[in-house]
Amino acid sequence: MTASRILVLNSGSSSLKYQLLDMADSSRLAGGLVERIGEGTSRLVHEPLTGPGAAGGKRERTGAVADHEAALRVVAAELAADGLGLDSPELAAVGHRVVHGGTRFTRPTVVDDEVLAEIRSLIPLAPLHNPANVTGIEVARSLRADLPQVAVFDTAFHATVPEYAARYAIDAETAQKYSIRRYGFHGTSHSYVSRATAALLGRPVEDVNVIVLHLGNGASASAVRGGVCVETSMGLTPLEGLVMGTRSGDLDPAVIFHLSRVGGLSVDEIDSLLNKKSGLLGMCGDNDMREVLRRAGEGDEAASTAFAAYVHRLKKYIGAYSAVLGRVDAVTFTAGVGENAHQVREAAVDGLSELGLALDPEANAVRSAQPRVISAAHARVAVAVVPTDEELEIAAQVYALVTQ
Ligand code: AMP
Repeated sequence: MTASRILVLNSGSSSLKYQLLDMADSSRLAGGLVERIGEGTSRLVHEPLTGPGAAGGKRERTGAVADHEAALRVVAAELAADGLGLDSPELAAVGHRVVHGGTRFTRPTVVDDEVLAEIRSLIPLAPLHNPANVTGIEVARSLRADLPQVAVFDTAFHATVPEYAARYAIDAETAQKYSIRRYGFHGTSHSYVSRATAALLGRPVEDVNVIVLHLGNGASASAVRGGVCVETSMGLTPLEGLVMGTRSGDLDPAVIFHLSRVGGLSVDEIDSLLNKKSGLLGMCGDNDMREVLRRAGEGDEAASTAFAAYVHRLKKYIGAYSAVLGRVDAVTFTAGVGENAHQVREAAVDGLSELGLALDPEANAVRSAQPRVISAAHARVAVAVVPTDEELEIAAQVYALVTQ
C-alpha cells in the first residue's frame, strides 16, 4: 500500500485551518479549524467526513489553546479519535499554504532548514502571513519529523507574469534593492479555477484564455492564457487591485503622502486603514457582501455606493484583462462572493456585450456547489461559476511532488 493521505495546513496569525485528503481518490477525510489561538478562549470545529465519527457530524470545543503547537496537538487528537491519526503510515506528507514565495519559490518545495530560512527571510514582504506559515511548518515538523513537509506558495502561479507586467514603473535600482514588483496572491485558487474552467468547457487548458475573478473577503483577478498566468491584480502585497471586504485595492499612492503630511497618520496607521478598515467596510460599515446587498436592497445609500464601487472596479479589470488577453474564452467567478452573489455577477457583466459577455439570468440565479456555465447561449465568451478548492489543489501538488 502506498501512502496517499495529505494533511493540508493553512496557518494564520491566530488560526489553523486543516484538511486531511486521500489523493488515491481525491476524497476528503476530515477538516476543520482552530481559531482565536492564544486569545484565552479558543474554538475548535472538527468535521470527520469518513469512518465511525462521520455520522456524528461536526464537533465543536472551546478552551484555551496557547499557541500553534498546542493547536496542532488538539487537531492531531481529534483526527486520532476518528482513526485518522497523524502517526498513520498512510500519511504521505503535510502540505503548507505559504503566502509569499518571493521570486525564489515558484513551485511546491520540500522544506528543509535552508528552505525554512529562506521563507523566514521573506517575512518583510509578508509580515502578517509568513510568520504564521513558518510556525505551522515548524510545529508539523516537530510532530512528524520523518514526513515530507511541503510548502505551496500563494505567489507561485503568478511567476509567469511577464517582466513588463510584473514591474512597477519606478527607479529600477530601488525596485531591485527592495524586491519591489508584482507578485500576486491567491495563486493556488487561480491555478485550480482556470484549469477547472477549461475542463468545464470540455477543452484542453492550452487552448483556453480565462479571466478568473476570485471574490472572497480578499479579492483578486487574473488573466490566464492557455493555463499560464500573464497578469494579476494583487501586487507587492494583497492590497492592490479590486475593492475587497476591508482593503481599498487600487488607489493613488499620493493618498498615503497626503494622509501622512496633512492627516498626521503614521505608516502603521495608514497600513491598518487601507488593509483593515477600507474596501466595503470603509465605505459603508459592512465587509460582508450579504449585508451590503441587504442594505442596498433597502435603499441604504452608503451600501449602494459601496456595491457600485465594487462592481465598477470589477468591470475595469474585466475590460483591462480582455485587452491583455486579446481573445477571451471565459470569465469565471469564484470564492465566497463570486460563487454565491448572483447580484454581483449580474452587475459585473451588465453592459459588456461589446466584449462578448451576456448572462442567462435563470442560470445565474441557480445556487449550486457545482461548476457551471451561466452565460447566454448566444454569448461569444462563456461566463462560469467554479467553486474554488485550494486545499484539494495544494494536496494534489504535494502528492504529485512526493510520489514523482
Ligand atoms: P471567502 O473569503 O472566499 O470565504 O469569502 C467570504 C465572503 O463571501 C464573505 O465575507 C461574504 O461577503 C461572501 N459571501 C458568502 N456567502 C455569500 C452569499 N450568499 N451572498 C453574498 N456574499 C456571500
